[in-house]
Amino acid sequence: MEKIANYINGHMVGPVSGSYLDNFEPATGKVYSYIPDSSDEDVSKAVDAAMQAAKAWAELPNEKRSEWLVKIADRIEERMEEFAQAETRDNGKPISLSRTMDIPRSISNFRFFAHAITQFSGESHQMQGIGINYTLRQPLGVVACISPWNLPLYLLSWKIAPALAAGNAVVTKPSEITPYTAYLLAQVCMEVGLPPGVLNIVHGLGPKVGEAMCLHPKVKAISFTGGTATGKRIASIVAPQFKKMSLELGGKNPNIIFADCDYDEMLRTTVRSSFTNQGQICLCGSRIFVERPIYDKFKKDFISMVSSLKIGDPSEVDTKMGAVVSEAHLNKVVSYIALAKEEGGTVLCGGHRQWMTDRCAEGWFLQPAVIEGLPYDCRTNQEEIFGPVVTLMPFDTEEEVLMYANSTTYGLSATLWTSHLARAHRVSEKLEMGIVWVNCWLVRDLRTPFGGTKASGVGREGGFEALRFFTEPKNICISY
Ligand code: NAD
Repeated sequence: MEKIANYINGHMVGPVSGSYLDNFEPATGKVYSYIPDSSDEDVSKAVDAAMQAAKAWAELPNEKRSEWLVKIADRIEERMEEFAQAETRDNGKPISLSRTMDIPRSISNFRFFAHAITQFSGESHQMQGIGINYTLRQPLGVVACISPWNLPLYLLSWKIAPALAAGNAVVTKPSEITPYTAYLLAQVCMEVGLPPGVLNIVHGLGPKVGEAMCLHPKVKAISFTGGTATGKRIASIVAPQFKKMSLELGGKNPNIIFADCDYDEMLRTTVRSSFTNQGQICLCGSRIFVERPIYDKFKKDFISMVSSLKIGDPSEVDTKMGAVVSEAHLNKVVSYIALAKEEGGTVLCGGHRQWMTDRCAEGWFLQPAVIEGLPYDCRTNQEEIFGPVVTLMPFDTEEEVLMYANSTTYGLSATLWTSHLARAHRVSEKLEMGIVWVNCWLVRDLRTPFGGTKASGVGREGGFEALRFFTEPKNICISY
């Protein structure tokens, strides 16, 4: 069986320990490759290599670093289908999603930051008659990027690309649950001849490899995307060292539907915003609030559309719902459905494990669940489930729905459906979220600030926000 390798100092290498972890295919429930069970020793080697490479990389003109990122993007594009197949196999997501979202977006991430860095500049502040200040934005040195399993290459490249573009050398750890496309990315870096040490990929477990990156004194910043509990742990390690950190964490996003919305568009999009990637996108709307006059109609139409989503082998083109990423995650999601029933909820459709045949007979499939009858403040409506589960709740007034929407500890994103212009602005302003979509969902302009408030994170990614995070501003004041 294939063994994935670490990518350190331009070479594919095994872990120092010599031991490996199982890598599962969610659609079959079977091990299909092995990943390095790396430790702090591997991280030290990666950081040493990055230290060696950092100075020359930082000194390259922006245009040259930009060219490297474009080369990586071009090569991934040439191998697009292979990347898409690998992402689907590793994660369980439908192949249509890997082909149209995950891999194209990963390519865009490299291209976008290749161009963004050529447009990035410091500021200057004139003090009339006294002098002038100008601000340099210099690379930090070696930075660490740690990413989750739900959008594996998409989110890894969303961090690596700005970090490299800004002139940093990078050590990175993909999720141990979905390591494969990061391994293909390492192959791409070798194929295009990226200078050794500029990017280093160390596979393995979070508490061993991720924490070693956070603890390493030569690592100057941590960019992390994952769960809120992990973010808390990372913050407790990183904050006392006064390193920069960017934390993109969990969410419990409201989807607010007013009766005056474009109903058909709302319905189609709400099915997507609820269940794309088996509901395993941090931006999925998991609490659906519907204005009372259209509640019953929405409930009927929504259940009908959700029940007809094709659950199937993720490698088949017409599959809409693939496998949940791991058995442990499947069990977690199922336990939340049981909790919802205990809390008085009614499961209107789905919520059971879906047993398949043939190759997928032991795969981790779950029917998308729609639940109603729960109060806004019960655990099911307050805690992140991160799976194919949504709840429906009616509301009567703007004030009421804003109170429901803002009631959780999270504040990542919200979706709002209304054709009333003033209401769209008024409600958006009052939502305690980092991102609000009005009459759409997951429409992304990579220049915009991306991130959450409250327990959904610290800092923003995207556009110049990311380039600012991955650089240190230095103000120089010159007296006339
Ligand atoms: P996770 O927190 O379990 O793991 C994320 C990454 O952190 C993995 O690479 C993991 O190995 C590593 N890690 C685990 N423990 C660590 C530690 N002690 N020190 C350093 N690294 C450690 O999250 P997950 O289960 O992979 O992903 C799901 C979560 O990610 C959900 O909560 C979801 O909302 C969140 N998420 C957020 C965003 C966002 O942009 N806000 C995007 C995607 C996913």
